[in-house]
Amino acid sequence: MKLYLDPGHGGTDPGATGNGLREKDVVLDIALRIREQLTANYEDIQIRMSRTNDSSKSLSQRTDEANSWGADYFLSIHCNAFNGAADGYEDFIHNSLSDQSQTAIYQDIMHQEIIKFNQLRNRGQKKANFHVLRESAMPAFLSENGFIDHQEDAELMEQDTWRQSVAQGHVNGLAKAFNLKQRSDDNTETIFKIIAGSFQVKANADERVAFLKSKGIDAFADRIVISGVTWYRVQAGAFSSKGAAENHLRKVQNTGVDAFILEEQVRS
Ligand SMILES: [Zn+2]
Repeated sequence: MKLYLDPGHGGTDPGATGNGLREKDVVLDIALRIREQLTANYEDIQIRMSRTNDSSKSLSQRTDEANSWGADYFLSIHCNAFNGAADGYEDFIHNSLSDQSQTAIYQDIMHQEIIKFNQLRNRGQKKANFHVLRESAMPAFLSENGFIDHQEDAELMEQDTWRQSVAQGHVNGLAKAFNLKQRSDDNTETIFKIIAGSFQVKANADERVAFLKSKGIDAFADRIVISGVTWYRVQAGAFSSKGAAENHLRKVQNTGVDAFILEEQVRS
């Protein structure tokens, strides 16, 4: 799935301002958190951002980029402003679309997931003729995450934890709408390592390695740091099957060396 992720405004365009905050900063932070969470937790997602820093980019440049890249979804992140009294969350799709359109179905899902996390008054799902919704060739969604000129909304925007939660809501919506595959233990495998001694003095580890080699057992000393302390851990083989590891363990133990099997998860 190819996501075009668009933090609104930027550079010479601050977007809405209020309570000492600028929309361009708040939405960039939320978008970067969305990217980070998606990348860390899901597979099969490619993300392109309209901006990753405080730079200017026109609306046409944004939709042109998404269209020529062939994005599957255009996600635009904004904050609102009105008269200081209005507050809450709302989101938009283009006003030419029916409630049965794919874009509207995605909006239903995104909306439900985002409002679970954002602690904002729910102003509802809406439609509008915004440039990024109209000129994008793929389903497009624009979220207005609170009113920056409203004191309580702005107080939330100032909090890292709130911005993280807002990002989480968007990520959960995307995961549900696009059936994203979560990174899981399916992608890790267990390695069974034979550990034949751990030493704080390297020479002692080298001596153990030499001894094992003299008995026909390949080994090396692996330097590891545990709680700030350096250890030289002698590893005498690593196996993907536990049975093979147990056979080899007996061979190591037959030389008179204390050894055990260490199971480790590695990403494959
Ligand atoms: Zn905006």
